[in-house]
Amino acid sequence: MAKTMFIDTSKCTACRGCEVACKNWNDLSADIRPFNGSYQTKEDFATQTYTFVNMTEVEKGSGVDWLFGKRQCMHCTEAACMMVCPKNAIQRSPQGAVYIEQDLCIGCGYCVQNCPFGVAKTGYSYA
Ligand code: SF4
Ligand code: SF4
Ligand code: SF4
Repeated sequence: MAKTMFIDTSKCTACRGCEVACKNWNDLSADIRPFNGSYQTKEDFATQTYTFVNMTEVEKGSGVDWLFGKRQCMHCTEAACMMVCPKNAIQRSPQGAVYIEQDLCIGCGYCVQNCPFGVAKTGYSYA
């Protein structure tokens, strides 16, 4: 049965263990970049990055508040990306994960326009 991901961001400590675990599980290579002044290590999803932690700094009085948010495909039960794909290139594994069959994708971008979480991107697969 399909299951949608739920992330309780109030409990996230931004440890980024999920980033490492995702790389490990999906056998994705590291995407090493120089320090650019932010603790956020990845700016966006990429071919080798299915999960990253968004870190936003907000000035508060004399200090700074950090807002954390883990970003990943939510594997929606009613996945808009799957519904609009004209080639059935977006499929679901028996375990409930949504993934792309790259050979079927024609790069139309409908999934990109319809993903409510801004996860789907043309040109790479997401898990
Ligand atoms: S969601 Fe990811 S970054 Fe947040 S606490 Fe869990 S493993 Fe750490
Ligand atoms: S790509 Fe977007 S719409 Fe599709 S399952 Fe993932 S989060 Fe849901
Ligand atoms: S870009 Fe590819 S995966 Fe996305 S809707 Fe079009 S054919 Fe389907």
